[in-house]
Amino acid sequence: MYRDDRGRVWYKGNLHTHSKRSDGRLEPDQIFRMYAEHGYDFIALTDHWKQSSDGESDRLLTIPGIELDHSPNVRDGIYHIVGVCMTGEIDVSRRGQMSAQEMIDEINDKGGCAALAHPAWSLNTPEQIMACRGIYAFEVFNSVSDKPHNVRPDSALLSDMVSARGRFINLTAVDDAHFYDGDACRSFIYLHTDVLDTAHIAAALRSGDFYASQGPQISWEWDPETLTCVVKTSPAADITFFSDAAFVGHRVFSEARGDGELQTGATYVCQKNETFLRFEVTDFMGRKAWSHPIKVREIN
Ligand SMILES: [Zn+2]
Ligand SMILES: [Zn+2]
Repeated sequence: MYRDDRGRVWYKGNLHTHSKRSDGRLEPDQIFRMYAEHGYDFIALTDHWKQSSDGESDRLLTIPGIELDHSPNVRDGIYHIVGVCMTGEIDVSRRGQMSAQEMIDEINDKGGCAALAHPAWSLNTPEQIMACRGIYAFEVFNSVSDKPHNVRPDSALLSDMVSARGRFINLTAVDDAHFYDGDACRSFIYLHTDVLDTAHIAAALRSGDFYASQGPQISWEWDPETLTCVVKTSPAADITFFSDAAFVGHRVFSEARGDGELQTGATYVCQKNETFLRFEVTDFMGRKAWSHPIKVREIN
């Protein structure tokens, strides 16, 4: 956790992890110890079709989690849905037979928060993502989908394609750790809450009071009157703004471009033809942080 310059506390958490209860390599207790030692404040074990519970560790807060999936084939859509913060038990009797929307609805019916996991890895299309109703986020980065185990860890392009079609979905970063040989303690969220418990985390997830990171600490202020985004960040190698304008003259702020050391942030003023805005920060170790997409104006 850290305290920002307005005095607000941001907690560090991983919302997607696997243990020996399904296909993960470590016991839950080993996972809790590893994440606690890396400064995490909360974690959700999200084993396949096996729900975890809160209060499983005295090292850090554990919140209930589960991963459901419907995986017929890529053309019909591979959907992995991760639920956290449930207050009731997910019905797992229809494993593999539930549609994406049925899995999302079941998580919400049990008081949980549903996210679409690793859409780039799954080869989800923008249309498939936009058909999901009732998700609080999708994973913009999924550590285990990166090398050496897998491909397509980064779903940022899909975020832009969905935002460009007028749907705004917040972004998480997660490990989805299975192997614990480099896929753990890498991608996470910082979440703002005054009270660290399952109910307050659920409220913060639903209201978007979090952001995805691998290290950089960021904040942003959006002024709809002047269409200006002011970004504050810990030391950054570059800050890059993404939108649906194909060409923008100065969307990359970086030391390499001669913008000086980006110790504090950057300011971006929107173009006339932009309908959404998003930014990524990369630090000097190559670690990223991602803002949520911001709606700039209606699509004409
Ligand atoms: Zn998955
Ligand atoms: Zn998973």
